[in-house]
Amino acid sequence: MPPSSRNEDHDAFAAALSGSLVVPGDPDFEATARVFNQAFQHRPRLVVRCSTTDDVVAAVRHARAAGLPVTVRSGGHAHGGASVGEGAAVIDLRGLDTIEVDREAMTATLGGGVVSGALIRQLAAEGLATVTGFDPRVGVSGLLLGGGYGLLSRRHGLACDQLLEAQVVLADGSVVVASPTQEPDLFWALRGAGANVGVVTKLVLRVHELPSVYGGTFAYHAGRAADLLPRYRAFLETLGDDTTVYVGLETAPNTFPSLTFMAFHLGPPDEGEAVLHPLTTWGRSLGGGFSEVDVVALHHDTENETFPEGFSHSWRSHFLSALDDAAIATLSAAVSDSVQRSSWTVLEHMGGAIGRVDPASTAFAHRGVQLGWVSALKWQGAPDPDALAWQEWLFEQMRPRALGSYVNYVSPKHGPEAVVAAYTSNLGRLQQLKARYDPDWVFTGNVTVPRPSQPPR
Ligand SMILES: Cc1cc2nc3c(=O)[nH]c(=O)nc-3n(C[C@H](O)[C@H](O)[C@H](O)COP(=O)(O)OP(=O)(O)OC[C@H]3O[C@@H](n4cnc5c(N)ncnc54)[C@H](O)[C@@H]3O)c2cc1C
Repeated sequence: MPPSSRNEDHDAFAAALSGSLVVPGDPDFEATARVFNQAFQHRPRLVVRCSTTDDVVAAVRHARAAGLPVTVRSGGHAHGGASVGEGAAVIDLRGLDTIEVDREAMTATLGGGVVSGALIRQLAAEGLATVTGFDPRVGVSGLLLGGGYGLLSRRHGLACDQLLEAQVVLADGSVVVASPTQEPDLFWALRGAGANVGVVTKLVLRVHELPSVYGGTFAYHAGRAADLLPRYRAFLETLGDDTTVYVGLETAPNTFPSLTFMAFHLGPPDEGEAVLHPLTTWGRSLGGGFSEVDVVALHHDTENETFPEGFSHSWRSHFLSALDDAAIATLSAAVSDSVQRSSWTVLEHMGGAIGRVDPASTAFAHRGVQLGWVSALKWQGAPDPDALAWQEWLFEQMRPRALGSYVNYVSPKHGPEAVVAAYTSNLGRLQQLKARYDPDWVFTGNVTVPRPSQPPR
């Protein structure tokens, strides 16, 4: 198909928008179409920069009339570059960026294009917080529609558990409100598989008092992983819902491989110090320490260093049933194997309030999970086939205790197996609901729920 360019159809459509239309050849096309993961250099046919819900309605109708696939972009951080599709009409929500906080009702109402950092900053200014991930650049709706977890999740649940109401543009261009009492099936699907059923233009979220937070990082040489990870496993058993401890194993050429605890306690400093202190007592360390944490700074400093702009990324992940001895042996061996390569492997601490929700009551099914495991590779220029093969080896080695995958870490290129891993026990209901809300399978740029007649292999 030839690249799209300005024509009369486009002009008439663009003239009716509050936002704007960008097509190949326009000066800002390349910048508008770029996504975080440079491994995906998709060229869409057009990008509709929406400023209103009416713009989104017009964009859905225009794309369908033109026979174009539709993809939806919020923060642009989908691992598989799903929000900017090859040859697609991209519905760019970045212009829907308003945030209104109602302190009395303890709610925040935000546009579908708001990024996490903006929400965290605005809420903190009013002494409030809600569940987000750690990276300020990630879109709130992209994160929440797949589940979403971070600093507050063990106390308050997933980001999708904070959703009270959503305004959604459906595939036929109609606008509906989804809540526990209006379109409850749609509301169910939004909370874990939301990218499949429509375009969310507005979200109403539950917010909480901003807690005081104590924590930071503490690192050891990763050559001691076989000794430290069993201690970590036992330590997690002692923790309440107010404490979250991730562990990252990092290697890079010509540096010590490190094993770093990223630990946070919601509570006063003396309490936090008492809870987290054991992490600093396991022998000779590479340093670090814990102190009072500024929540806004925490979310604006950390991830940009680990995931800078301008890189290609490959992520593989499983939710784990357990960090058993075999998994620890695998992770320890993996570090030894890759000391001269840039790699990052993290165990994400889940459980707590995330697990006190019935797995069938939202589309996010993985409620019993205690740990998520992620391997992340990043590079510039050509990928290293040996590094990618090593990551696949590690993914296979970790598979025996896998309970499924986090949809937000999966790429469409991971295939039908990843669809089953992402939706597990809720896949059947999702297939029925996708057929009801998106009968022509318009929203397919993500980890797409297959048609009921095409069960995934
Ligand atoms: C550096 C980095 C750090 C991360 N950290 C965390 C973390 O701490 N916790 C966590 O849970 N996850 C984390 N993630 C994963 C993140 O939640 C997903 O990548 C998420 O899908 C990104 O959302 P987005 O809006 O930025 O991306 P986009 O690429 O814009 O969207 C992601 C998907 O959602 C769809 N979508 C987005 N907005 C809408 C909407 N309004 N309506 C309908 N569909 C929509 C898109 O079409 C696409 O399929 C991280 C990802 C990265 C790259």
